[in-house]
Amino acid sequence: MKLVAATNNKNKIKEIKQLIPSSIELLSLQDINCLEDIPETSDTIEGNAIQKAQYVYDNYGKNCFADDTGLLIESLNNEPGVYSARYAGEQKDANDNMNLVLEKLNESSNRKAKFITVIALIIDGKTTCFEGIVNGEITLSKSGKDGFGYDPIFKPNGYDITFSEMAMDQKNKISHRGLAVKKLVNFLESDL
Ligand code: IMP
Repeated sequence: MKLVAATNNKNKIKEIKQLIPSSIELLSLQDINCLEDIPETSDTIEGNAIQKAQYVYDNYGKNCFADDTGLLIESLNNEPGVYSARYAGEQKDANDNMNLVLEKLNESSNRKAKFITVIALIIDGKTTCFEGIVNGEITLSKSGKDGFGYDPIFKPNGYDITFSEMAMDQKNKISHRGLAVKKLVNFLESDL
């Protein structure tokens, strides 16, 4: 089956591709000639995932899925949450975002955080959502050179390295996105 991955984030696509079986042919937004910015204006993670998938389905008529992710930090009242991409401003810069988190946490002893990913799938107009959560903590400083976004400052529970210090397959086994994609694949393989 063919499925459009409704994201322009190359890092997300790399991670998702590693988990998707060859029976599912992933198409990119470029493949369907969707070159514009897709609106993302909801105030929830699930709402944004549905909005992005619905936009592609409504305007291009393709079966598709979209991923939306947020980092929720307990002692910052679950900030940055749905605003994770633009936490430090419209430039959407990963380093600026991480610096702001580290600055706001200062040397706070409660550094508990979690990533949540919601994937919204639309097949023939029917929407189904899949959620993945990973618990962990924010480190005192950045560490690692792989991954993207907040990976250099997120250490999952049970590990003493950040996502950024892990190989992609190791991150995929335990990450928010990895868990959500596995639910998506199970659904596609068993329920369709
Ligand atoms: P969005 O889902 O593309 O809106 O992502 C929201 C923000 O979270 C962006 O700043 C991303 O860089 C960041 N983000 C998304 N997924 C991950 C991840 O797996 N690790 C670290 N940061 C991520």
